[in-house]
Amino acid sequence: KTFKDLGVVDSLCEACERLGYKKPTPIQAESIPLALQNRDIIGIAETGSGKTAAFALPILQTLLEKPQPMFALVLAPTRELAAQIATQFEALGSLISLRCALILGGLDMVQQSIALGKKPHVIVATPGRLLDHLEKTKGFSLRNLRYLVMDEADRLLDMDFGPILEKILKFLPRERRTFLFSATMSSKVESLQRASLRDPLKVSI
Ligand code: AMP
Repeated sequence: KTFKDLGVVDSLCEACERLGYKKPTPIQAESIPLALQNRDIIGIAETGSGKTAAFALPILQTLLEKPQPMFALVLAPTRELAAQIATQFEALGSLISLRCALILGGLDMVQQSIALGKKPHVIVATPGRLLDHLEKTKGFSLRNLRYLVMDEADRLLDMDFGPILEKILKFLPRERRTFLFSATMSSKVESLQRASLRDPLKVSI
């Protein structure tokens, strides 16, 4: 199967080709068609499986239909992972003038507020700092958010981000799609799933 067979539009297929993605990985082949059908997804997959593009491509494709600021929020447990996700979004979105902001703990809040003020389409963040901005940064709102992604959910919860995730969820609209990716399924991940996903489909590879 090709990306086109999965329903990916030409401009994004071209971006994949430029990045050397010759064909979809298994997690991409499973989840992209479901995500394009507007479903919440639980993806059980490890880093290295191509899971980033599995959620980035459907998000970018919906964004293309009607570009809108603050369209998607991706939460990741570590700064390194968040930076990698942002790099991949930017690479896949380079043909469609994607604006992506990276919001990490330990870096300057003011600089980040300015980046958020530029109305990025996609925000990739670590949870603590994102919550800081939701609580403190004037004019920053995620009321129109369309997609939430929680990546490496098992690690997010092992690092005790659970209470912060709960607070972040209160700032987000109910009318959204949510993708949860995790290397493992645990009771903590299941309860996060129940709190944040609606009628999800489970994809595991
Ligand atoms: P991830 O699991 O999302 O961290 O991706 C692992 C690596 O695989 C990244 O360097 C991606 O650029 C790369 N990758 C993602 N999808 C594909 C694909 N379909 N073909 C080849 N490489 C890919």
